[in-house]
Amino acid sequence: MQQGIMELMWRSSHVSGSNVHYVEALYEQYLDDPSAVPDEWRQYFDELPRPDDGPSHDVPLTPVREQFHQLGKQRRTALAPAAGDGEENRKQVRVLQLINAYRFRGHQKANIDPLGLRSQLPVPDLDLSFHQLAKQDLDTEFQTGSFFLGMDKAPLKEIVDALEQTYCRSIGCEIMHIVDTEEKRWLQQRFESVRSAPSFSNEVRQHVLERLTAAEGLENYLASKYPGTKRFGLEGGESFIPMMDELIQRGGGYGVKEVVIGMAHRGRLNLLVNILGKNPGELIDEFDGKKVIERGSGDVKYHQGFSSNVMTPGGEVHLALAFNPSHLEIVSPVVEGSVRARQDRRDDSDGTKVLPINVHGDAAFAGQGVVMETFQMSQTRAYKTGGTVHIVINNQVGFTTSNPLDARSTEYCTDIAKMVQAPIFHVNGDDPDAVLHATQVALDYRQQFKKDVVIDLVCYRRRGHNEADEPSGTQPMMYRKIKEHPSSRAVYAQRLVEQGVLSEEDAKAMIETYREDLMAGNHVANALVQEPNTSLFVDWKPYLGHEWTGHADTSVPMKKLQRLAARMCEIPDGVEVQRQVAKIYDDRRKMRAGGMALNWGFAETLAYATLLDDGHPVRITGQDVGRGTFSHRHAVVHNQKDGSAYVPLQHMADGQPRFTIHDSFLSEEAVLAFEYGYATTAPNDLVIWEAQFGDFFNGAQVVVDQFISSGETKWGRLCGLTMLLPHGYEGQGPEHSSARLERFLQMCAEHNMQVCVPTTPAQIFHLLRRQVIRKLRKPLVVMSPKSLLRHKDATSSLDQLAEGRFEMVLPDQANLEATKVERIILCAGKVYYDLAAWREENGRDDVAILRIEQLYPFPKEELFEAIEAYTNVTDIVWCQEEPLNQGAWYPSQHHMRAVAEMLQEGLGGRLKFAGRPASAAPAAGYMSVHIEQQRQLVEDAFNL
Ligand code: AMP
Repeated sequence: MQQGIMELMWRSSHVSGSNVHYVEALYEQYLDDPSAVPDEWRQYFDELPRPDDGPSHDVPLTPVREQFHQLGKQRRTALAPAAGDGEENRKQVRVLQLINAYRFRGHQKANIDPLGLRSQLPVPDLDLSFHQLAKQDLDTEFQTGSFFLGMDKAPLKEIVDALEQTYCRSIGCEIMHIVDTEEKRWLQQRFESVRSAPSFSNEVRQHVLERLTAAEGLENYLASKYPGTKRFGLEGGESFIPMMDELIQRGGGYGVKEVVIGMAHRGRLNLLVNILGKNPGELIDEFDGKKVIERGSGDVKYHQGFSSNVMTPGGEVHLALAFNPSHLEIVSPVVEGSVRARQDRRDDSDGTKVLPINVHGDAAFAGQGVVMETFQMSQTRAYKTGGTVHIVINNQVGFTTSNPLDARSTEYCTDIAKMVQAPIFHVNGDDPDAVLHATQVALDYRQQFKKDVVIDLVCYRRRGHNEADEPSGTQPMMYRKIKEHPSSRAVYAQRLVEQGVLSEEDAKAMIETYREDLMAGNHVANALVQEPNTSLFVDWKPYLGHEWTGHADTSVPMKKLQRLAARMCEIPDGVEVQRQVAKIYDDRRKMRAGGMALNWGFAETLAYATLLDDGHPVRITGQDVGRGTFSHRHAVVHNQKDGSAYVPLQHMADGQPRFTIHDSFLSEEAVLAFEYGYATTAPNDLVIWEAQFGDFFNGAQVVVDQFISSGETKWGRLCGLTMLLPHGYEGQGPEHSSARLERFLQMCAEHNMQVCVPTTPAQIFHLLRRQVIRKLRKPLVVMSPKSLLRHKDATSSLDQLAEGRFEMVLPDQANLEATKVERIILCAGKVYYDLAAWREENGRDDVAILRIEQLYPFPKEELFEAIEAYTNVTDIVWCQEEPLNQGAWYPSQHHMRAVAEMLQEGLGGRLKFAGRPASAAPAAGYMSVHIEQQRQLVEDAFNL
């Protein structure tokens, strides 16, 4: 590690300019306080001769060591106490306050807007007079305190110049909200030591120009070939491409092996072609409207994801650009989930090897709540990914909204990031050198501190929201300015020519070379690896191309079941278990021994134990999942002695797969999106999100609509995510009764997902196992029970776990004489137990009750098999607890009618409904109304 950083710092031509100063600063800090510098640097400095070692030291000094040696001496001399009168001391304090003011508010004066439209109010704290200093003091020498000027004393003029250069040029630094002193100092040193403008080598700057040329070249090419066609071009924000190039290359140098990127439309095609290496020919096909995938709906070109490998100084790096819907910012937590899955696969617990980069738009970053949720998850146990590099492509306008009075209440669009104390660098997109510096510091910070960091790339959109739009209708002043404004590339090329970095001809030749490559259909991402190392990412081949099947052998030999059941109930001696929890574990031991019928919690836990034993990691998150909303799970046992947690399923066997269970923070949207991202990256795992109450998933409706239900058909991305949604009418009112089954069923088509309503412990056992044992990967939506967790009849036997399978239809359980049956009641879920109880009480042997345990894909054959013996049936009823306009009645009745028709011509047309009357709310708020409605619908099922 030490070697790696040193190599990076001293050898990389990208960084040599800035880091000499940076290392000097660190060394100074080390001399003051060795514990204040990172470990690897401390070890390195420890080996250096101390400044007071004297000439007799027998280790010959290298030039670098010599430099440190001198620096130490100077430092000691400078720290000698200064003499002076009282006024001098007071002025000294004011100078330090001035330095502090620049650190706090310099960004407000910085030149970060290429268009110069940013309204900048005066910042009085940056005036000498504000600090009772005057022009006459400019020549007086003052101590510089912690300001890294390279000397401990300097004339005030020099101090002010350095502060202006550091904090008020092309980078506006917001770091003073960070409370951790080490982090703050580290950041200050990175900027102050080089006045926020390191001198990059000619080679580096030529490379930046080349990447800018690529960024501009692609847009020019597409604009001339497809004028007026929507592509959400990058024009105005071209510096984004050298920025991404640097992040990936430098990341590779750090040993990063995978980079996962999330971003919205703007600049996406540019990233795809110039960074990820998508073949320009493929893009052209998409512009020509060719169908590029055989199955599914496909998606527009600026939503497409991509994967490739590129070469970096640290070796090959795998890049994945996540597929993205139009719903802004929702892809961020998806990216985080995918990154976490990759980190888990690599046992990369601190996130060194997989880097998330989320690219945002300014308006959406300020406006979308999911951004806040994503920041909130960034340091939590369940969701952290070792820090994310956030880039805001800040066009200073959201579609047609640019007036800050309408767009937001915060000063910057990035202010939300301060909630996690992320450093924020606002950088002028027309100053690619500054962009490069901000990028390097951002990545170094992430790798050093494993926390989120934000680069706000302040730019503009040359052609409006998209190329079919006329922006001057709504932004006349801005677009008048843009019309006259030269491109970032033109500005930079001219600067480099003026500074003698390259000739005008060389700069022009870059444009030609790029265009020729594009026309020839060559790849234009210069680091692209043509034959990628596939071991860098998950192999999805075993899971591809499977047709739908509801059947899988999920049985488990009895001996193995008993062994695992015994193990999952073991709690070590030192763990003192709370009384009610102890009873649950005692009962589980009895269930295992055959002394008690199995309940839901036992079967569910045993399903996890068996899957772990089969080599499948299990991950469960959601609100209160450790215990379970209704106290049935208790997968996490809290030691009453010291509050520590013990998770029996993590102690099943040596070397077992990972069992992860975490209570989530109180979010549905970001959390569900995260788990979607995880599940689409970890095909071998059982990944579960559980809602506290089923209807709360609607806080994450975007994730269901845009990803879970449609990701496979739009993008060919398979997903085996399981959602456990507590559902059932038990008088808890409009909000805690329904998981809005109808919404899921209405979205079902083309076998896109499975919607199941298991009613016995054995059914949930086999259903969870089926989800992973089959190679088919489809989202599974489970309407999971509440009262059934403890219902006396909702039990199973160990034999049913050992030998059974998930039954998509459960036939009638009473021993009816088939020919006597005149009515069939079809139902799903908890109402079955109410119906069965009513039938028994009323002695009705002419009515069969069948449970449809899988509502989609609808099990037509299985249902027919279960009813075909009832040859004398005269009518058929669908009974549901939900109101008429909800539940399965509308979305599924055509399937039921079709099966009824198979049994008897005309029977399908006579399918009746028994349930609550149509209602705007899912359920009544009064227990008495609930009870009456429930009684009525059960009675109706028999007597209608
Ligand atoms: P990634 O690491 O996400 O870039 O994925 C690498 C490759 O694995 C992709 O190019 C796909 O071929 C395949 N792949 C990744 N995720 C999925 C998925 N959810 N479903 C199907 N194939 C996938």
